[in-house]
Order: sequence, then C-alpha cells, then structure tokens
Amino acid sequence: MAETRSTCPYCGVGCGVVIESDGAQITGVRGDPDHPANFGRLCTKGSTLHLTATATVTRQTRLLQPMRRAGRGAAPEAIGWNGALDMAVDKFAQVIGDHGPDAVGFYVSGQLLTEDYYVFNKLAKGLIGTNNIDTNSRLCMSSAVAGYKQTLGADAPPACYDDLKHAQCLFIVGSNAAWAHPILFRRIEDAKAANPGLKIIVADPRRTDTVEIADLFLPIQPGTDVMLFNGMLHLMLWEGWTDNGYIAAHTSGFDALKATVRECTPDKVAQICGISKEDLLAAARLFATSPATLSLYCQGLNQSSSGTAKNAALINLHLATGQIGKPGAGPFSLTGQPNAMGGREVGGLANLLSAHRDLANPAHRAEVAALWNVPSVPEKPGKTAVEMFQAAADGEIRALWIACTNPAQSMPDQATVRRALERAEFVVVQEAFSTTATCAFADLLLPATTWGEKEGTVTNSERRISRVRPAVAAPGEARHDWSIAVDFAQRLEQRLGRTPTLFPYDSAERVWNEHRESTRGRDLDITGMSYAMLDSAGPQQWPLKEGEATGRARLYEDGIFPTPDGRARFVDTVYKPVAEAREARYPFSLNTGRLRDQWHGMSRTGTVGRLFGHVAEPLVQMNAQDMARRQLKDGDLVHLTSRRGSILLPVQASAEIGLSQAFVAMHWGEEYLSGCSSTGTPLAGINALTTSAYCPTSKQPELKHTPVKILKAELP
Ligand code: SF4
Repeated sequence: MAETRSTCPYCGVGCGVVIESDGAQITGVRGDPDHPANFGRLCTKGSTLHLTATATVTRQTRLLQPMRRAGRGAAPEAIGWNGALDMAVDKFAQVIGDHGPDAVGFYVSGQLLTEDYYVFNKLAKGLIGTNNIDTNSRLCMSSAVAGYKQTLGADAPPACYDDLKHAQCLFIVGSNAAWAHPILFRRIEDAKAANPGLKIIVADPRRTDTVEIADLFLPIQPGTDVMLFNGMLHLMLWEGWTDNGYIAAHTSGFDALKATVRECTPDKVAQICGISKEDLLAAARLFATSPATLSLYCQGLNQSSSGTAKNAALINLHLATGQIGKPGAGPFSLTGQPNAMGGREVGGLANLLSAHRDLANPAHRAEVAALWNVPSVPEKPGKTAVEMFQAAADGEIRALWIACTNPAQSMPDQATVRRALERAEFVVVQEAFSTTATCAFADLLLPATTWGEKEGTVTNSERRISRVRPAVAAPGEARHDWSIAVDFAQRLEQRLGRTPTLFPYDSAERVWNEHRESTRGRDLDITGMSYAMLDSAGPQQWPLKEGEATGRARLYEDGIFPTPDGRARFVDTVYKPVAEAREARYPFSLNTGRLRDQWHGMSRTGTVGRLFGHVAEPLVQMNAQDMARRQLKDGDLVHLTSRRGSILLPVQASAEIGLSQAFVAMHWGEEYLSGCSSTGTPLAGINALTTSAYCPTSKQPELKHTPVKILKAELP
C-alpha cells in the first residue's frame, strides 16, 4: 500500500489528506496530522473521498475518452485526442476568424488547480486575445475580492485560522460554517472551549447549526446586512467606541461614511433588519470593545446584488475600531471552493490579470504582455459569468469552452443558460464525469483527471498554498486539465501561422514556476515557493518571497495598506434593498445554500450512499406558522414558483426558517428535482427559479434571495 499527501478537493478550508492506494485503486483516506489547516481531522465529505474515487457507480460515470456529437441530441461517439483537439481548433479558429476573438468564451472553475487556471487564462488573454474567461468563483467570492480591493487596496484576506485562538469576539455573518466549513467550525468550537470569555455573534436570516455556538444571534431580514453594519457603526460613534487614533493614522474617507451612518438610527435598523435595538447595541459593544474581534463571512454577504457594499461595510467596522492587523482581529472571508483563491491569484477572471493585476490598468496589461512575450493583452473587459451566458444566448458568443463546472445546474436563471448552451455553435465540455447536466449540451466532451490523479497546487481561505499530488494514474484516456489546454493552445498557435512558443510546459511544475515569477514584487509575491520548498517545508501562506523561510500569517500589522497613500479607505456604503422584493404574488424570500454532507452538483458526493444519511432528498423548508396558514403539513408536495420558473418538491417545517422565508439546498440536480421555466421549458434544480440580478461592482449574482410563491400541489 502506498501513501500520498494531498489536499481535500471540496471546501476552502483546504484540509490536508493522506491518500492510501493500492496500485490503480485509492483504498482509503485520512486527515494529514501535519497539515496546518486541519491537523488530521476530516469532515464527512473529506473522510469519504476514497469512496467517491472507487465506487463502481463513479467509475461508470467517469468520462474516459474524448467524445463528439454529430449534432445536438445525438449520442456521443468516441473520437481520439488528435481528432478531438483538431476539431476544437477548427471550430474556434473559424469562429475567431469570422467574428473576432470576443466571439469565444471560457467558463472555468474554482475546482481547477492553480496551474490549470494559469494556462486557461493565458490561452484566452495571451493567445486568442479575448478577456472572455470567467469562472464559477464569480458566483462564490467576487464580492469579497471587490470589497477587499475597495477598502484595503488588495485582494488579500488579512487574517488566518490561528487568529481563532487569539480572538475575544467572533462575528460570524452570512456563513453557516458548521455545515459549509466543518473543520474550521471544529476549530471555532475548540477556541470557545479553551476560552470561555470568547463571545460569538452570529447574524443570519436562518437559525442554522452555526447559531448553536452563538452568545448573541441576530436573525436579520434577508439582504439587510449593510443596514446592520451601518447601524452598528452609528452606535459605535454615538457611544465613543471607535478607535479615533487608528482612523487618523491609517485610514481615509471616514467623514463621508459618518454622514451616511448618521441616518442609520437604531429605530431604523431595528425596523429594516428585524432585530431588537438592544441586540444591535450588544453587537456593536462586543465588536468594538473586545480586545480582538475577528469577522468570518461567506456567501450570505457575497451572493447579493449589494455584495461589494456588504463586504465593504463590514470592513468599515474593522477599520473604525482598529480591529485589524493584530492577533485575533480582522475581516476574514471564507472561500467556498477549494481553489477560488488560486484562480484570483492567476487572474483567471474577466476583469483581472496575473498576480492580482487589474485589466483596467494599462501598466498592468503591459507588464503581463511582457511576461507572456505577447504584443499586448486586450483592453476590453471580458464577459463575467452571467454576462457570458447572456451573450451566448444573444448569439454574441458563439463558441464556449467549459472546464470542470456545471453551469446547466449551478448558474442562476437556468432558462437563459440553457438557451445559451443550445444556441452556441460549438460547446466544449472538459470534465471528469459524463453525468453533469452540462455534458448533454456538449459538441465535444474531453475527459479530465480529478482528485487523486492530479498534480498541482491550491490556495485555501487563509492564503495557504498546499500541494495536490496524484496517488493513482489517470484512468482511460483522461488527461490533466492544464495539459489539455496546452495541447489545444499549441495547435491553435500553429493554425494561426505561429511557431508554438507560448505554452512550453511539459509538467504542472513548469506552469507553476512561470506563475511564481509573475508574482515577483506583487502583494502576493510567492517567488520563494517552489514545489521543492512546499514539499520540504509543507503548506505555506503568501506572500513568501525568494529567500524567505516561511510565509506571512497576518497582513497589515504595520498599519500600512497597499493603496497609493498607504491608508485603508472607508467606503461610503449606502443600504440598498434586495434586487427583487417580496410582494403579494411572490410573498416568500427563497434562500439557497449548502448541506453538510453534499458538494456542489453531487457528481462525487452523490455516489456515496452514506452521505444521504443526513438529508435524503430535496425539500423546501418553511416556518411552521406559514405552513399552518396554508394548511400544509410535512411531506406535502408544493409548487415553488418564481418569476422565472417552477419546481415541485416536498415541504418540511423547520425552526431554522423565519416567517415569510424558505430554504432549498443548492445541490439537487435533474435526477432529483425537475421543473420548468415560466414558458414551459423543462429545467432542473433550484436555479430554475433564482434571479441573475447581480452586484454592479462584483457582478456576483443574488443567489441568496429570490421572491417565490408556495402553493400546495393538487394531485390527481
Ligand atoms: Fe474537505 Fe472542507 Fe471537510 Fe476539510 S472541511 S475535509 S476541506 S470538505
């Protein structure tokens, strides 16, 4: 039996695993006792990883050779790698030749490794000359990115997991860490057990399992976070709890914000947020007067039409109270996916460039062009996730390459996404599994390797880069994601009449070394982080410059921020309600989110029977009073309907859910949950209903709030 150290491919906690294998079979998995994210622990998902790799059903659902379809709806036929990639080059070259480079788009994933991301980004922006590359991380963390950049000057979470041990107050907001980040939650429980004086505030519309550990629970109305944070700042100013010395020495822009929060009186906040004035005051006091306050936050802030403002308003609180840059204090966004951070680091989004450079900055574009040895990087911003599928639905984007993600289930407003996939002239789906809903739309299916087979790196929520290592060989003809992209890119270079020089990679490590070099002198400088260094010293936090022995646990301890004047910036955050308000025809606020034991579209966790022991089937959860008023009882089937579509599913009373609210987990796809659009198009999953309204700054859609009606189904 062999043992291989690697990283869990599920959530952004980034736990280390030891994979046990026997020849071509992964036989077991256990937590890596030496990994600083988890010290040997694994949650239910991580501890069953070996079952996802070995289950017979998983083997049957793997994509093991390239397949093509003669036409939409036709059965896929096997095609060799040469034929497949030549076909892709033919189609992409034709679309680019006829309609220009912006007629193609790449939609990638926070599940990809950093090396995969790097190659796709260079392929789109450096070779083809389009910025139409975006990622499912747009649905996950883009509001956190924008919030950090607006306030602190860089997309860099300043805190670390170790800060849990030093904090005296935790403010957990928009995060059900107990389910979405289970091993981090174990560390929160440890911190509370070790320090009974630690006060924990949880703000969330749902009374989730995370609330069980709270000293103070703020059950705010959906989407009212900015009003809550502004109201807390109002009280901090009134009570004299702000840190005026820190504000004067290290920040700018406080006066404009003060004028805004003056209007956010306790009466107004209590009325809009639906909490008591006493609880608001208690939260403001704990946050401001604790020796060290750490905020943990996730999709409840990010997946919102005010996502950037929510992030900025929370960071405003840290700046106003000096709760940043010291042990146990700071704003700390929790990443949903295993490598959303890595994608940000290589600039694999429509508005970013390598090493946290900005596409909008001409100097940054020139730097990246020089690094890549290309004449230029295009200036025009690319299409972000929602925009990309809208452009394809409108006929503007004609060829789509989708890697390691399942937009036919996970994107909001499914009717538009499926229209886009049907209308596109050519759709490539690069996947490990043949069963995702998106595969049904592919003209070309390219088999990719997955966890246990891949090599590279990922970055977790605390900026820690860990190695991902293969324990077994790739099955069938599956290839690594970076390698598929390189092969395609080299063929496309030749088709364009150039000598293939831009993608000289024969290993993931060569890609990594080029990425490392691109970070030299940047805020995330990782020039000192070679594979050999990571192998000998273990996972490291960035920055870690050439010559340094370890990375940096905490940022901004010197009070200097990466802004032109070195000061952090207050953002004047004005509260705006949700994009679509509840109204008489759609009187419920639908919230979506994760279950404890499932991951994304269930292509892996859905193959493990024991993971259905927690929640066995899709449900809509409602408040018992709302059910009684509608004469509903547990198990009744209801039509859950928004302006975009309708799905049918059983209802369950839940004490977690407030009045006029409803919750459905995001994981269930068409094999579990079918429905139709408002025009009768068959759709699947909860995103048949959700809105594609998004934050104007981050372009992150509002997956956390959709008005719906809930009507008992009349069965024949
Ligand atoms: Fe994997 Fe996240 Fe569970 Fe850790 S907490 S084992 S990274 S799913």
